[in-house]
Amino acid sequence: MDRPTILAWLRRRDPERWAALGREADAVRAAHVGDAVHLRGLVEISNHCARTCLYCGLRAQRALPRYRMGSEEILDCARRAEELGYGTLVLQAGEDPGLTRAFVSELLLAIKAETPLAVTLSLGERPEADLAAWRDAGADRYLLRFETSDSDLLRQIHPPRPEAPASDVHPRLALLRRLRELGYETGGGMMVGIPGQTHESLADDLQALAALDVDMIGLGPFVAHPETPLGLAAAPVGPDQVPATERMARTVVSLARLLCPWANIPSTTALATLGGAVGQDAALACGANVVMPNLAPARYRRLYEIYPGKSGQAGAATVDALLRLRIEALGRTVGVGPGASPNWLRRHAAPPAKETP
Ligand code: SAH
Repeated sequence: MDRPTILAWLRRRDPERWAALGREADAVRAAHVGDAVHLRGLVEISNHCARTCLYCGLRAQRALPRYRMGSEEILDCARRAEELGYGTLVLQAGEDPGLTRAFVSELLLAIKAETPLAVTLSLGERPEADLAAWRDAGADRYLLRFETSDSDLLRQIHPPRPEAPASDVHPRLALLRRLRELGYETGGGMMVGIPGQTHESLADDLQALAALDVDMIGLGPFVAHPETPLGLAAAPVGPDQVPATERMARTVVSLARLLCPWANIPSTTALATLGGAVGQDAALACGANVVMPNLAPARYRRLYEIYPGKSGQAGAATVDALLRLRIEALGRTVGVGPGASPNWLRRHAAPPAKETP
């Protein structure tokens, strides 16, 4: 799909055409990654964060009770994931130096010794030596959204770490390439409707996903958090500003599916925050094929407040039972096993997997 076509879709405000795009993306999803919806157990292991991102409620300056889960607590969640039949555990956190290389390595070894789970890490921008050590310790996947491919916009909303060299124009794009070289299944993505994000810029983001050949795509609408600079300020919004709506995010999910047909694409929490279960299901029906139910104890979930209204308090078993019913109602099946990205499998299979026409 060429750039003018992407832009035309992004600028379109016509419900009938949106429905047609969603159907096309759904067909491409079915043909390339199948009907299974993979469930990933999500555990937000720490809300400490060293960064000062203008959009995120975990930013260092915010007064927020901080927690860091212990290994045993995290292992309990891993056991829970296995009991519920999930094939993957996703460990996410703020960018927390307290999660040391050794702590995470030992945790990975323990999870791998005790369970058959695939493990996805989403711990922010870490030194290459950490990423390499964690891969060696058994980590399978790494999610690092590039947030926006526009280096200037990124610098504004996601101030670089003080020690970062000026030559590091877009640290996240650079790290994504490195993660791929380390053999990780690699996940990128962006927020839709960041103040200052234009349709042109969002088209760049979509093209960046294809150029990076990502295995997973995490994207969702920007949700303003009143206790952050981007939630407080009357943000500078130009005429070409992308709306931070569920509708827009869903259109971007469909376009991402068309551009990266073999990627795993979750229907994300931010989509569910704006649109509830209906919104989350709608994304599954227009390109997405993954859901990440939260397995952390409710007392921690409440504190992982990257934006308001995010955390449900329902128990994991209740959420799981409802999700399974919803997936069935969509005419889909629940994925079994680790559910690796077909994009990654194609790259690593020998001989290369057969091309789907
Ligand atoms: N520290 C990790 C994980 C961050 S939380 C990292 O930086 O990669 C995961 C994602 O939540 C972020 O990558 C960002 O895209 C999203 N997010 C953060 N604040 C948000 C907000 N206000 N609205 C919508 N999404 C947000």
